Amino acid sequence: MTTKFHGNENVACEAHEPDFLQCVEGFFDQAAAVCGVKKSTLSAIRGIDAVLSVTFPIERENGETEIVRGYRAQHSRHKLPVKGGIRYAKDVDMHEVEALASLMTYKCAVVDVPFGGAKGGVAINPREYTVGELERITRRFALELCQKNFLGPGVDVPAPDVNTGGREMTWIMDTYRQLNPTDINAPGCITGKPINQGGVRGRTEATGLGVYYSTREFLKFEQVQKVTGLTGDIEGKTVSLQGFGNVSFYAAKFFIANGAKVVAVSDSKFCAYNKDGLDIEKLGKYKAEHGSLKGYPDAEITEGSTKALEVECDILVPSALERQIGLKNVHNIKAKIINEGANGPITPAAHEILVQKGVVIVPDLLANAGGVCVSYFEWLKNVSHVRFGRMNRKWEEQGKERLLALVEEQAGRKLSESERQQVIHGAEEHELVYSGLEDTMIKACEETRITAEEFGDIDYRKAAIANAIRKIASCLEGTGVMFASRG
Ligand code: NAD
Repeated sequence: MTTKFHGNENVACEAHEPDFLQCVEGFFDQAAAVCGVKKSTLSAIRGIDAVLSVTFPIERENGETEIVRGYRAQHSRHKLPVKGGIRYAKDVDMHEVEALASLMTYKCAVVDVPFGGAKGGVAINPREYTVGELERITRRFALELCQKNFLGPGVDVPAPDVNTGGREMTWIMDTYRQLNPTDINAPGCITGKPINQGGVRGRTEATGLGVYYSTREFLKFEQVQKVTGLTGDIEGKTVSLQGFGNVSFYAAKFFIANGAKVVAVSDSKFCAYNKDGLDIEKLGKYKAEHGSLKGYPDAEITEGSTKALEVECDILVPSALERQIGLKNVHNIKAKIINEGANGPITPAAHEILVQKGVVIVPDLLANAGGVCVSYFEWLKNVSHVRFGRMNRKWEEQGKERLLALVEEQAGRKLSESERQQVIHGAEEHELVYSGLEDTMIKACEETRITAEEFGDIDYRKAAIANAIRKIASCLEGTGVMFASRG
């Protein structure tokens, strides 16, 4: 068994706990045992469809040559394109991207995004390279993906993940475009692009927003209120987040905007705690200026990335890396709800203990699906070549104007300009994206609740995976791929 540590030591997991891929497969097996899908279909779903492992040389600015390793795993091609982020991390390996690719398949199914699952990684610490070197590495990796048919708007569509963002996505798209100059759908070969490169408004904050929506929806469930003793709204709840990157920053912002108090966040080295609530924008600016949370004046700063997991709070959002809550620290967790902003932050043994204790876990494949959901919207925008709202916004406003005129005539009163604007305002792109995401998350949470009730417990991970398996099975069997009539 391989046990991989992020950083010098893994402070969360015992040595005998499974690695990330084994964790994902273990969770799959638990759900598979109760979902009522036949064995042959289950094996077809569980296996990884295709993998790519490449090495390539890049020239450093000091003139030396370095060999870089990159990976891509396509877990399930039952729907195309496959979809999934690319992360840059020194210790990324094939097992890790296979685990993440598997999760991505189930995630897409849970939120009804019609894609298969994939994931990629490049084994570098980006902080050790100049921007020019990073560009060369990214373009070279994109070239490898193109040559092996692991990149393209109808084939495989990556997105940002840990340590990657709009800049890397643009380099990848540009490389694809240079190799495929006649493909008018080229911008759809990648998502998470800046707006001026064909991105969609709302993608940057989508995963954090989805984390907020899914927590809000779970709090409304009677069963969740019963086991946690929490009231049904976000207002006044205390929140702690591990990680201070894309997912946690935006999740924190949405929690605060809706009346919650963010009492702690941590990055890879330090934890900032303030029982009266952190000013997340101010903390973000401080980190950008100083490169660290160390020395921030308006919070208690302690060393250690896992501190934020253990503080007193209602809602915990692990949003850094996998395997951060394991047998070594599970008994220190005080939160009543855990929303998995990160992929795979809890090991199976720790998960079992938490569920037995009555802690409600909103599982990764549901909790952080906001990103892939809005990536799907971005892809739709790219392949339809039009901004959302462009064709109908004015038409809707004119229709509402006409209706208002009739109502005003009947009521004998004119609306004020601000009342009028509220009624007639046609949706902008980001409003449509937010609304599509909210609708998707509400539906996926509700489906998960119903499936959990079917099984008679509060293990929402099992419920979400079972729900995903059933949807993928019906797709495979429906196409005849799985020869549905044979047992
Ligand atoms: P990011 O690179 O923006 O942020 C990662 C954060 O984790 C940083 O604050 C970093 O300091 C912290 N971190 C790094 N190493 C750590 C360690 N050893 N211990 C504790 N903290 C550490 O990445 P992100 O995009 O916010 O992704 C975070 C998690 O969310 C990952 O698990 C990713 O797979 C998942 N996720 C991201 C998206 C997305 O749209 N970005 C979507 C779904 C899931």
